[in-house]
Amino acid sequence: MADPKNDTALSSYLEAHANDAQVLLEVLCRQPSVVAQNLGMAEMADLIEMLLGEIGFQTQRLYAEGAPPAIYGELRGRSDYTILLYNHYDVQPPEPLELWHTPPFEPTVRDGKLYARGVSDNKAEIASRLIAIRALRAVYGDLPITLRWIIEGEEEIGSPHFGAIAQTYSTLLQADGCLWEGSGFDPTHRPQLGLGTKGLLYVQLDVQGTGIDAHSGSAPILPSAAWRLVQALATLRPPEGQIRIPGFYDAVLPPSAAQMSAIIDQPDQDMELREAYKVERFVDDLSGADLREREAFTPTCNIAGLVSGYTGEGSKTVLPAKAMAKIDFRLVPEQDPQDILAKLQAHLATAGYSDIRITAFGKADPVVTPIDNPFVKRIATIAESFAGKRPSITPIAGGTLPFLGDLRRYVGVPGLAAPDNPVYWGSGAHAPNEHIRLDDLDRAARFGCYLFMELGI
Ligand SMILES: [Zn+2]
Repeated sequence: MADPKNDTALSSYLEAHANDAQVLLEVLCRQPSVVAQNLGMAEMADLIEMLLGEIGFQTQRLYAEGAPPAIYGELRGRSDYTILLYNHYDVQPPEPLELWHTPPFEPTVRDGKLYARGVSDNKAEIASRLIAIRALRAVYGDLPITLRWIIEGEEEIGSPHFGAIAQTYSTLLQADGCLWEGSGFDPTHRPQLGLGTKGLLYVQLDVQGTGIDAHSGSAPILPSAAWRLVQALATLRPPEGQIRIPGFYDAVLPPSAAQMSAIIDQPDQDMELREAYKVERFVDDLSGADLREREAFTPTCNIAGLVSGYTGEGSKTVLPAKAMAKIDFRLVPEQDPQDILAKLQAHLATAGYSDIRITAFGKADPVVTPIDNPFVKRIATIAESFAGKRPSITPIAGGTLPFLGDLRRYVGVPGLAAPDNPVYWGSGAHAPNEHIRLDDLDRAARFGCYLFMELGI
């Protein structure tokens, strides 16, 4: 078999079909699939199953009660070496609609960019993977490796049923490695690899002080829910400091030497980040590799919402009956969200706040594939030989992908985000005017071809 990078048959096929990926992507983007609003989900599942079938996958639907079906397909190749691909066919709600320059479900090209809801997250990757697989089959008849592909419909609401699906169908999902929803290339054209995400514990704290809102003239004699809540919050963390819940850091693994080298090897983006967030300085005046290290390996206790009493115009002298805060903890290996919840409960009780009601909304495990895992090394080598540049590796991202914990628990396949996703730092996922650059679409499809061919060697 020819070198996939210099294979003229493959190159001329891709050139002859240069517009196919865009055409396909526009079809995907014209079909709304907003899981939070149950908009277009059945039609999108049909479309995905049809597209997988068209390029030779044996498809089936994977069901969990109360969830839209995950679409699954298998494409047997010349070897049993098997890659599991993960994507999702749902998208975020398009609102606020008035901020879109063109309607979110009418894909529109401006200045070499394609605008639509869901285009970058993650319909363009579905399109480029489809195109890469189709090209390889058209040119060589079949693939050198076996592919399994799961495309679920609930990622944008936290994959609440993915665990049930992964548990029921774990044998279908077995593979030598998993390519998660992918990464792209950085501004200097270095391929990016993502090896994991932080875990999550999301809680709401409610304080009931009085039965009803009262005239604030009664403040000398009535308990204050608002003061009680802010004082309880102050026991969790000093400003910009270590979290004070006893045992919170017990399970935290320090970064490995390889992870630290990857952090040091990443480009500095302090200026871009300061501009993006409109801040003068970062906490503790962090910069460079120290900033990236803190961001990657530090678990957090973040106040996501805080409300009590009168918040309208002007003044209203009131003693509010209740106060509420929403808090997200981003967790690092090997912290367990259930354990952290128990420690939070114990801490509030010990500190005299057992009356505060704690409701847990979301729990997800931190998942990180070690840099020295053979699958990571293999993908890094392939990405480097494709791009001619050393990959930039993110050991752990600050956000959370709940399906990763389920994949690890029920399937156990090592995975990562490879640069086969045509996204870039300005794609605006989840935001109005979400878009991709069309040039990235072509590169992603070519990288996909290269990756699948190299994995077969
Ligand atoms: Zn996504």
